[in-house]
Amino acid sequence: MTFHSFLIKYGEIGIKGKNRYMFEDALVRQIRYALKEVEGEFLVHKCHGRVYVDCEGEYDYEETIESLKKVFGIVGICPVVRKPVKELEELKKDVVVYMGEMYPEGDKTFKVEARRANKRYPVNSMEINCALGEAVLDAYPEMKVEVHHPDVRLNVEIREEIYLYSEIIPGPGGMPVGTNGSAMLLLSGGIDSPVAGYMIAKRGVEIEAVYFHAPPYTSERAKEKVIDLARLVSAYAGPIKLHIVNFTDIQLAIYEKCPHDELTIIMRRYMMRIAEQFAKKDGCLGLITGESIGQVASQTMQSLAATNAVCTLPVYRPLIGFDKREIVEISEKIDTYETSIQPFEDCCTIFVAKHPVTKPNVERIEKSELNLSENIEELVKTAVETAEVITVGK
Ligand code: ATP
Ligand code: MG
Repeated sequence: MTFHSFLIKYGEIGIKGKNRYMFEDALVRQIRYALKEVEGEFLVHKCHGRVYVDCEGEYDYEETIESLKKVFGIVGICPVVRKPVKELEELKKDVVVYMGEMYPEGDKTFKVEARRANKRYPVNSMEINCALGEAVLDAYPEMKVEVHHPDVRLNVEIREEIYLYSEIIPGPGGMPVGTNGSAMLLLSGGIDSPVAGYMIAKRGVEIEAVYFHAPPYTSERAKEKVIDLARLVSAYAGPIKLHIVNFTDIQLAIYEKCPHDELTIIMRRYMMRIAEQFAKKDGCLGLITGESIGQVASQTMQSLAATNAVCTLPVYRPLIGFDKREIVEISEKIDTYETSIQPFEDCCTIFVAKHPVTKPNVERIEKSELNLSENIEELVKTAVETAEVITVGK
């Protein structure tokens, strides 16, 4: 079966008036982005309060569906067969062919749901339903009509063309990226932070990212891995502006001057401070991390409080109540898992203490940080100024 268009279904709750336009425009933009590298030519447009993807000529069906399944805001994707407007007798033939090709095994219950948007069509919806239903029953005696819970709802829409569709392929849900401001993701090479970015992007938030590396303690390969992860997340989130910060001197200073059991927390606090600088500069409305309560020493409630204390922007931690197993499940689903588990060290593992504090006290941490006062401001300034900035995505 050749489909000529896709009707895009989206959740409509709460998107009335002005919001509706913003939502639809963002959806159209994100669909165009998703289809950018798919083989074929596509026309994405709004029409009568709906969003359609029209396929102009040959295209790769599987790839198109895979790409559309990554567009947040899409609830369902209906592959549509388009026919020129024709008389009912001719339309019956098309519908019989359609049902035969879509459901070759035949044993389905069905219901025809005609809509006559083009009122010049001489037959009304009820009559179309009856005539087409009868034609299908005549052609396929094993099929049965079922009006309440049919296996197949055959939609027949009479517009400037006739649209036939009956399948709904589930989309990812959520809101189109670009409808809810932007936020700065602290992206490491681990399993959690790419999932965290995905989850916030799913709510319509545009994502930027920051990665802290510590050459030569962390390798070029570790950095490449983070760029790969950003690219995988960008398949959903759209292009991601990634800041790559050289964190070595700051880490060495902390290592030299602060108690070793507090290293991770102090390091994390500097990551947050720097991430926040980039965030504010670009107008991001929050930070995102992949933290989850109790996962490691630096993610106890006390540790999270100590890390949080340096931030003035809201910190979004979408994985906060998730078990590792649940996070792994999502990372597999969104295809970041295999990349995340590649064994390249991240900068935290080099400088970790054998016995990190699990209940840090903010005042004590602040006191320890005073040991850095001589040159930390300068080091932070240099780290910010020398950050490499790249945009990842199609
Ligand atoms: P992940 O799998 O995301 O690395 P994790 O379980 O390894 O998380 P931590 O290393 O404690 O946890 O990091 C907690 C969070 O801090 C990460 O989810 C990430 O948001 C941020 N983070 C940690 N290291 C870095 C880094 N090198 N660059 C940027 N962000 C980082
Ligand atoms: Mg990590």
